[in-house]
Amino acid sequence: MQYIVLDLEWNQPWPGSYAAKRVLPVQIRGEIIQIGAVRMLEDGTVADEFQVLVCPKFYKKLNSRVSKLTGLRDARLREEGLPFPEALKRFRDWIGGDCIFLTWGFDDITILEDNILLHDDEPDWIRSWYNAQMIFNAQTGCGNNQKALSTALEICGIEPCRPAHDALGDAYHTALICSRLDLKQGIEDYEAALQRHKDGFHGNPPEGCVSRTVFHGYEDKEKAMEAMNSITSHCPQCGAAMPNGPWYAQEGRRYMTMAECARHGRYLIRLRLQKEPDGTLQVNRLLYEGASDAAKRFDELIATRRPLSRSTPTRRRRRRRGPRSSGE
Ligand SMILES: [Zn+2]
Repeated sequence: MQYIVLDLEWNQPWPGSYAAKRVLPVQIRGEIIQIGAVRMLEDGTVADEFQVLVCPKFYKKLNSRVSKLTGLRDARLREEGLPFPEALKRFRDWIGGDCIFLTWGFDDITILEDNILLHDDEPDWIRSWYNAQMIFNAQTGCGNNQKALSTALEICGIEPCRPAHDALGDAYHTALICSRLDLKQGIEDYEAALQRHKDGFHGNPPEGCVSRTVFHGYEDKEKAMEAMNSITSHCPQCGAAMPNGPWYAQEGRRYMTMAECARHGRYLIRLRLQKEPDGTLQVNRLLYEGASDAAKRFDELIATRRPLSRSTPTRRRRRRRGPRSSGE
């Protein structure tokens, strides 16, 4: 199955303007002015690209904010833009057959569907789509928040090579990130990732906590800790990988360790393991600022405790000391 990495640019009427007050047959959050897409093969290789400008029909005057962001002008859209139905036809012809859509964020597909409906067409050919942000968060352990594309590129160490806020440029960069993800696995785990995303927004995070991630489905404590040790933490400020120290156990299946960014100092990682109804373990992983009270408590704790050893200890046979009968 081919993946189509899609990005759209859309125009919104200026709030309070005549256009904004206009009631459309289908309420849209934005009128599409540019469609950009990259075809990615199952093995993650970028195959080919698509881009088309769309001449807006309902919100004809470009919002100055949109114009500034995208670099697009009214005149150019009038001259080069196709009417939406024609642009969409070209896009569908280019896609060819069935595909899985990937987008950076939740907005693009909804906006595409609404625009199709507004033009009296049916979006029923859009069968499966995934927000790559969710897969990215699940597979990089970078927390639940929706990251800007530029932040994700930085975390992956990818140097941007195309213009930002250009539909094809953004789609291309999204494809580069996607090519580093295990998409099959990500799609399999998507519902769980979506749930974690929702979980992340329920309730306020504790004081000093900068990110919260929930992991599911570990057989036992050893498997859970093994998985936690394989996750690379990233500095919330610069995205650099942060090596962490040994874990310290606390009561109630809690563990703590300190991670450190060379530029931004230390961050506390706290884990809490919980049994789920199906018997597997869930891990709540929280990242705290180095100056938080939680980090101070960590300092107090380590003064009195020994860390867990990194590998599962195999009991070493004590070497016998003392006198040997060695025929002196
Ligand atoms: Zn940093």
